[in-house]
Amino acid sequence: MKTCAELTQLLSEAQDKKPSFADKWATRTHLMMCRGCRNYEKQLNFLREAVRGYARGRADDRNQDRMENPKDKKIPDSQS
Ligand SMILES: [Zn+2]
Repeated sequence: MKTCAELTQLLSEAQDKKPSFADKWATRTHLMMCRGCRNYEKQLNFLREAVRGYARGRADDRNQDRMENPKDKKIPDSQS
């Protein structure tokens, strides 16, 4: 069985690249038995979601700015 240090390393790497089948299996069996690493995985997932949400929010802000930019607005010309 992998040590907790090895497992946290695997969990971190799995955020960026697809783990091998052996790594996935080792992770799963370790997580079944180790509460510390389960908590670590939970925190990693939480952080990843938070960063994703933040990045998504920033993208939405940029779109919002573009839509509210008066230069891009087509104002109907009702005077003529
Ligand atoms: Zn562990």
